[in-house]
Amino acid sequence: MTITAGDGPLLGAVEAGGTKFVLAVGTASGKVLASHRLPTTTPAETLAATADWFSAQAPLAAIGVGSFGPAVLDPASPRYGHITDTPKPGWSDCDIAGHFARRFGVPIGFDTDVNGAALGEYLHGAGKAGQSLAYVTVGTGIGGGLVIGGEPVHGASHPEMGHLFPRRPAGDTVFAGTCPFHGDCLEGLASGPAIKARWGASLDQLPAGHEAHAIVADYLAQLCHTLFALTAVETIVLGGGVSQAPGLVERVRRRSAELSAGYLPGGKRHAVVAPGLGQNAGIVGALVLAARAIAQSA
Ligand code: ZN
Repeated sequence: MTITAGDGPLLGAVEAGGTKFVLAVGTASGKVLASHRLPTTTPAETLAATADWFSAQAPLAAIGVGSFGPAVLDPASPRYGHITDTPKPGWSDCDIAGHFARRFGVPIGFDTDVNGAALGEYLHGAGKAGQSLAYVTVGTGIGGGLVIGGEPVHGASHPEMGHLFPRRPAGDTVFAGTCPFHGDCLEGLASGPAIKARWGASLDQLPAGHEAHAIVADYLAQLCHTLFALTAVETIVLGGGVSQAPGLVERVRRRSAELSAGYLPGGKRHAVVAPGLGQNAGIVGALVLAARAIAQSA
């Protein structure tokens, strides 16, 4: 593989999902030079196959991992880089960052998949002009990552965003929601499985005039309004499978503006947009995590 001058060192990227791993090699500028995907099976099998693919590429200077969670992100913790308690069989307590560190001996960047996607969009996608960005994925679940002033937000763990409690619009109280913990939290009302459980089809399969479009948009707009009001974030990127339903991003943008009723001091600087990187936000974000790992280890 030939890397042209100015591209910097070759980096590895892992978007570790519950159903598939997306792998890439590329550069700090977010350029993907080769990619590969494989199904998520057992940790031993999946991580070995991932490392084998990387070994077949040119030597890597660092690897970035954007992982499904929950995960330990505190570098001071002895369990840094581990996935914690997950219903995904075999993956609880998996030392995913340590696996790559031991195999390759290079700096490893590690964060949640959505914080990674937020970094990718912030630097190389929809957020290029701003200082702050949230990436919200709406699919099998709802989750989000947040970048403020160039840094992904970590607290006791990482932002979660899916299990908020939206206001139920008048008359929309019959559906109990699908969240096993909360019933009608945001994820229980507006995720892909919730939509399917309620209306028997995915959002993009329902006709344009179906009530589902406005109801789902209302719930997601409440998340956007909350994020704007709580964090003053400039840009919210709506990713994930459900967000690709025709017209949904526009509906959420419109409804979010209605909900704010002209009150938010950020005014028109608050934007709700589709991913600038399309389906690549997560993997470009993992390249960013790799580049940051080099900077932090210097
Ligand atoms: Zn919930």
